[in-house]
Amino acid sequence: MEKLEEILNQGLSAFEAIENPADLDQVKSRFIGKNGALTELLKGLGKLSAEERPAAGARINEVKDKLEQALAARRESLREQQLQAQLAKESLDVTLQGRGAGRGGMHPVTRTLERIEALFHSIGFEIAQGPEIETDFYNFTALNIPDNHPARAMHDTFYVDAQHVLRTHTSPVQVRYMQNNPPPLKIIAPGRVYRCDSDVTHTPMFHQVEGLWVDENVSFAELKGILTDFMQQFFERDNLRTRFRPSFFPFTEPSAEMDIGCVICGGDGCRVCSGTGWLEVLGCGMVHPNVLGHVDIDSEKYIGFAFGLGVERLAMLRYGVNDLRLFFENDLKFLKQFN
Ligand SMILES: [Zn+2]
Repeated sequence: MEKLEEILNQGLSAFEAIENPADLDQVKSRFIGKNGALTELLKGLGKLSAEERPAAGARINEVKDKLEQALAARRESLREQQLQAQLAKESLDVTLQGRGAGRGGMHPVTRTLERIEALFHSIGFEIAQGPEIETDFYNFTALNIPDNHPARAMHDTFYVDAQHVLRTHTSPVQVRYMQNNPPPLKIIAPGRVYRCDSDVTHTPMFHQVEGLWVDENVSFAELKGILTDFMQQFFERDNLRTRFRPSFFPFTEPSAEMDIGCVICGGDGCRVCSGTGWLEVLGCGMVHPNVLGHVDIDSEKYIGFAFGLGVERLAMLRYGVNDLRLFFENDLKFLKQFN
């Protein structure tokens, strides 16, 4: 009986000491297994007298029950501990604010392009498009820029091969459009153009919008009127001053560059306008008869004007951005300001 009490106490404290559920069965077998301490005692029952035997047997079974209960309880408490530990490890704070997907916004260049398109569309200009890889003919020759013309060198052209270039301006679109559509025609051609140039005010890829109006009776006065009106609408300033300076482009004659009163300083002179109070915003002119000739439009009957403007240039002025490269670095801190 003394031995029995000892086994019971040893067993209870051994079960209590188990920390790893995997050890449960091994410890169990030490006490109530086939070769366990209790089983050894049961085997010894035969040595007792017939009177002692039932009481001893009953007592052994009682101890066995206690040990089994203690073992089951330990098993349960270890399982519970394990569960709690796992829950703590995998816990989620459902009150934390989600990261969310973040709302995107339109890129400032896209926003500017759409604004330009909408303004010209409202006065009847259709939108035309053309390929970004152009043939030498469409990019230069058809626009009155023959081989060895100095304007070819001015354009810093990316050549794809001897006959193909990444278009250096959107003007080839007017040639393609005139080939397929008889006058009268009134289009703008927005799109990407490429030049081998990179600094604060130049990027190898940028956007232009080309405009073209060909009809029997189109005048330089209308060109000035439309462009002045466009600039006033674009910058939302009814009193925006404009001026046209004589210039040279191979594909227009006469040619002009258009300036607007500086939208940053209002004409007093600042760093952006180099102290002049004026900002150069686009090139324009009456379509050169040679260009009409290349697409078989009778230049005795039809006359037209064309203009080309830089989209990033207008976006920089409208939003007060001082480095062109910011538009293409995809820095979200910059882009989010336009959401
Ligand atoms: Zn200024």
